Amino acid sequence: MNFGISECVYPIKMYCPKCGRADQEPETFCRQCGIFLPDLSKPLKKGQTPEDHVRANIVLSSLTVVVCLTLSILLYTMLGFTPQTHPLIYVTGGMLLAISCWHVQTLWRSILLRRHFRNKKTPGVEANPSGEPGNQLSAARFDDLAPPSVTDRTTKQLEEVRLRSS
Ligand SMILES: [Zn+2]
Repeated sequence: MNFGISECVYPIKMYCPKCGRADQEPETFCRQCGIFLPDLSKPLKKGQTPEDHVRANIVLSSLTVVVCLTLSILLYTMLGFTPQTHPLIYVTGGMLLAISCWHVQTLWRSILLRRHFRNKKTPGVEANPSGEPGNQLSAARFDDLAPPSVTDRTTKQLEEVRLRSS
């Protein structure tokens, strides 16, 4: 009986949150209903923030602009404008130019977006953009509460009905 080994590998047992079956191992599938049981004791993977995506976009767009522009210049200077030049050379060069122009505007938009995120970040006031639990509670919401006058009136009416029926 290698009970000791499995105890060693999976020290934490859990209940299935769907069907409630006990003695389950995390990071496996439920033996009764088959849903995946994540290991809740592990820290959650930190997802990418919008800022990360914008930063990646800026890098990729800059690279694309440089590469496409260089290639189209090389194509035109080395192969273009001779009597034997195939029209496809001009088409390809034009395509590369168009791609680099497109990515110039993507780059510009990403830079604007990054500036927007930087301006928005005021510590202590805005929600924590990294997705980690901040040390501040969000503001209380009262818009889904019934005003006390309504509940008071309803209570009074119910009381009257009860008195009348008895
Ligand atoms: Zn289950």
